[in-house]
Amino acid sequence: MKLFKADVALRCVKCRSTYDADPWLFTCPRCGGLLEVVMPEETSLRWPLGGCGRRYVWSYRELLPLSNDVEPVSLGEGGTPLVPLNRITQALKTRSNAYMKLEGANPTGSFKDRGMTVGVTIARHTGVSGVVVASTGNTAASAAAYSARAGLKCVVLLPKGGVAKGKISQALLHGAEVVEVDGMFDDALDRVFTDVVLSGRRTLYPLNSYNPWRLEGQKTIAFEVVEELGRVPDFLIVPVGNAGNISAIWKGFKELRSYGLIDRTPRMIGVQSEGAAPLVMTWVKRCESLQVVESPQTIATAIRIGRPINWSKALKAVRESGGTLISVSDDELLGTMKTLARVEGVGVEPAGAVTLAAYIKAIEEGLISEGDVILVGTGHALKDPDVIIKHFT
Ligand SMILES: *Cc1c(COP(=O)(O)O)cnc(C)c1O
Ligand SMILES: [Zn+2]
Repeated sequence: MKLFKADVALRCVKCRSTYDADPWLFTCPRCGGLLEVVMPEETSLRWPLGGCGRRYVWSYRELLPLSNDVEPVSLGEGGTPLVPLNRITQALKTRSNAYMKLEGANPTGSFKDRGMTVGVTIARHTGVSGVVVASTGNTAASAAAYSARAGLKCVVLLPKGGVAKGKISQALLHGAEVVEVDGMFDDALDRVFTDVVLSGRRTLYPLNSYNPWRLEGQKTIAFEVVEELGRVPDFLIVPVGNAGNISAIWKGFKELRSYGLIDRTPRMIGVQSEGAAPLVMTWVKRCESLQVVESPQTIATAIRIGRPINWSKALKAVRESGGTLISVSDDELLGTMKTLARVEGVGVEPAGAVTLAAYIKAIEEGLISEGDVILVGTGHALKDPDVIIKHFT
């Protein structure tokens, strides 16, 4: 059985070389650049993209690179609620309309499930014994659940300390082998990259977000937003850690436009915490190379990353879409986490709350004055009970 659709390929985002679709190719053999999946040029698909029943990631399989007869490893991920934040927008006296995409409603409580369902489906198909990820927590929780469902082993590398309790509990619950790494997330990712990707050993399938196939599942956020809203939003605000998600969502919008299914795209606004803002620094200083943060600090541990691997893809998404990158302080995000919870009934983990803080800044700076604004609430409030107990009791 063929794993990928005909005409699906990989392309280097740096030198534009193209390669045949291959689950094991993660960087460009010519220049070392990141790869992206190239979809077939045409689709016969028309609205509604996801059909008429309950939507989930695999409702969009025409727009995913896997062959239609590959059986997915799925927990019904995707199809998350898009809730209007009417009381907040009223209080802000803005003519824009904000909506939060509740990604905490995914099976393991974060958007990572959208990528993991695709990634683990591929892993199972390649015949490996298991998968491996470095993680700030949610990737580990998701990989653990999906590999359990697929009957695969799961190894997760976590930075020592600094992983939220809910997330590590999930990894343990689903039976993952947890390896604590001295140092930060970036060090854990380096280790997976050297031990697994560069070594060429093919016993465990690596599913961090340099894996371009995993990002294909995450692009469905764009499809759902357009379908639920009934139009293309004007802005999409998303927290940025390793910068895979912003790249994936932008790719989703671009594909809809290239298929003629939409005629415009939103401006992408990426958000980082002040103490972990390598991309914001790179953007503001207009640098050509990444401004690394050696020791990133923020209570939003999901985005506590100093060397985002997908930085070049993310900068391209922001530039091409006419968007920007914004940083917010931990105090600001604690404030908006509380507001979301108490004014709208929306519980997000700290990383999800940065989107509202950035929205407020964008209004104050005159960047947003009207239109539809999507905030991606990336993870569920229960992921990080310690932050809640420490700050809100
Ligand atoms: C992974 C994650 C992010 C960051 O996404 P990237 O793709 O790494 O930029 C943001 N919020 C939550 C809750 C996450 O789990
Ligand atoms: Zn290249």
